[in-house]
Amino acid sequence: MSANLQTPIDYLKGVGPNRADLLRSELGIQTYQDLINLFPNRYIDRTRYYKIDELQQNNAEVQVIGRITGFREVAQKRGKRLVADFRDDTGVMELVWFRGQKWIRDSLKTGQTYVIFGKTNWFNGKFSMPHPDMELQSEHESNLRSAMQAIYPSTEKLSNKGITNRVTTKIMQQLFLETKGRFIETLPDSLLAELKLLSKSEALFNIHFPKNPELLARAQFRLKFEELFYIQLQLIIKNLIHKSKIKGFTFDKVGDYFNTFYKEHLPFDLTNAQKRVLKEIRQDLGSNAQMNRLLQGDVGSGKTIVAFMSMLMGLDNGFQCCLMAPTAILSVQHYQGLSELCKPLGISISLLTGSTKTSDRKIIHENLENGDLQILIGTHALLEDKVKFKNLGLAIIDEQHRFGVAQRSKLWHKNTLPPNILVMTATPIPRTLAMSVYGDLDISVIDELPAGRKPIKTVHRYDSNRLKVFKFIRDEIALGRQVYIVYPLIQESEKMDYKDLMDGYESVAREFPMPDYQISIVHGKMKPADKDFEMERFVKGETQIMVATTVIEVGVNVPNASVMIIESAERFGLSQLHQLRGRVGRGAEQSYCILMTGHKLSQDSKTRLETMVRSSDGFEIAEVDLKLRGPGDIMGTQQSGVLNLRIADIVKDKDILQQARYYAKNILKVDPSLALPENKAILHTYRQMSKYRNIWNYIS
Ligand code: ADP
Ligand code: MG
Repeated sequence: MSANLQTPIDYLKGVGPNRADLLRSELGIQTYQDLINLFPNRYIDRTRYYKIDELQQNNAEVQVIGRITGFREVAQKRGKRLVADFRDDTGVMELVWFRGQKWIRDSLKTGQTYVIFGKTNWFNGKFSMPHPDMELQSEHESNLRSAMQAIYPSTEKLSNKGITNRVTTKIMQQLFLETKGRFIETLPDSLLAELKLLSKSEALFNIHFPKNPELLARAQFRLKFEELFYIQLQLIIKNLIHKSKIKGFTFDKVGDYFNTFYKEHLPFDLTNAQKRVLKEIRQDLGSNAQMNRLLQGDVGSGKTIVAFMSMLMGLDNGFQCCLMAPTAILSVQHYQGLSELCKPLGISISLLTGSTKTSDRKIIHENLENGDLQILIGTHALLEDKVKFKNLGLAIIDEQHRFGVAQRSKLWHKNTLPPNILVMTATPIPRTLAMSVYGDLDISVIDELPAGRKPIKTVHRYDSNRLKVFKFIRDEIALGRQVYIVYPLIQESEKMDYKDLMDGYESVAREFPMPDYQISIVHGKMKPADKDFEMERFVKGETQIMVATTVIEVGVNVPNASVMIIESAERFGLSQLHQLRGRVGRGAEQSYCILMTGHKLSQDSKTRLETMVRSSDGFEIAEVDLKLRGPGDIMGTQQSGVLNLRIADIVKDKDILQQARYYAKNILKVDPSLALPENKAILHTYRQMSKYRNIWNYIS
């Protein structure tokens, strides 16, 4: 190779200090390496010329040949713009400059034939092209043109300061000249051969200056694969380092609690998915590395029993365990459910929430510290410093998307060694996204519902059909069922939403009057005690209708509730809709979900509603959600750094991602330290990456 790719771009011929500053500030390009990795957004056909009467109002870049027949200055709000009439034999259009007018005026000549290139606007009955790329036709003919000319990412500032696409292309050509187009290979020969990949040099050449569509496609594949391969490699290495460095408690025996429960008290047969996941957890717990596992499973897939049996493994090895849930309601339900299971085994279990009485709290604290208390269930209250365990061996977090990373890490410090951690979530994350964002966690999936569940019937109804919906509710209640009616509560418009909820409540109360009907209402503005009281009435079956905001989204279990009505369903996100629907269908009866909306719906809302009606598979729904919202929105900005890819796209390139992860895994399995000669290219690239671009910075 003839040039060091870490050379600052200032040294590239044709760049110079001003352009270098602009490239740095606008595109983050510091070195030759950064420039070579500035991949085109798309390609356009520079062998095609448009006549002015062929132009369409679609705003794409076009190339036109013609002459300037006159200049004029037009006053505008601030300053003035320079306008040129540009003609060919079919018509006239305008060229417009807002800056650099003197220079333009001096350098362009009327009467000469130019080839102009740029985006057109339709304005005042005419086409105009602001800040066109311009070349004299004579010059233009001597340049190479391609049917696949690269269009590079740019910014307004760059084009205003004269770094047009033509200039960027020239700079790129210069880079290829200086480096002779030869670049160090970053993938091993075995992978190149097996996947029939272009070499690095060929790929880079064809991504910038494609020779033909086939080579462009191969170049794109190779570079996407490489990008995803190295991200996966880094994540997997991080996971391996974690496992070798961070020792955890080993639960090496399966003892009486687990065996007795399994043989004598298991209330149902486990699904195959539950068995598989238990095996995966058992393997982690039996090793001396600290477990850091994410358990994904749709609503109702039976994560709780898996959590409980994992805790039994902990107890069998003399450790304490805890289960943390995001709300008091959910903690109470877990506590009640698990207490039943603990009773025949003689296991001590307690509940700790914000509303636990001080006297009870004191007892809990004591018993935790002296080891008498084996299992603690609760809310964030578990994280308080006063809560000290004798020997916490396993911490389980339910519905993890409600907790931040900081809270998770607090659990780590509850013992000398970090406890094993199992995080459970009912919001399935598409596999590809999980691989990228949680690639350093181990992931288990329960992808099967317990047998005998009746699928929930989901329909979409317009507000104008409300009377029929009310009749349906009445019929279900007459059969002894219970009904949820949920209103959106979205922060920005909280006041209005609150009003919607109260209006809704009143109309429901009118439609379903006491004493025949009893209604619970629960919303975020209520005191926790009132909330719990209302919730409790519904759980006990004293009320038939629960009017609520999304506070009931998480976890609440009322098997007798068979109808979920979601008001203004178009305002909910897909994963929220799916979560809400999961509140019904928990008993033996046929359950229903009714999505109520007005008539005016956006395209995205329609897609969301159709998806809900069509599918009950959380993973399928999550895929649609990912397509609608994009990865950044789903994961939050916190993790979106990992998703800032140069060329690959997590949604569109998920097959390549899977392939890349597969190969990265296999290579590390055989050669975890990348010491083998055939993996030299990988080791070298990996080291370069850690040196120049620290991926760890943006992974949790
Ligand atoms: P989630 O995964 O949403 O937390 P739960 O653990 O609350 O689901 O389980 C939902 C319901 O299914 C509970 O009533 C639970 O007792 C029941 N359940 C779990 N596993 C099975 C199984 N293998 N067979 C039958 N019912 C099961
Ligand atoms: Mg649950």
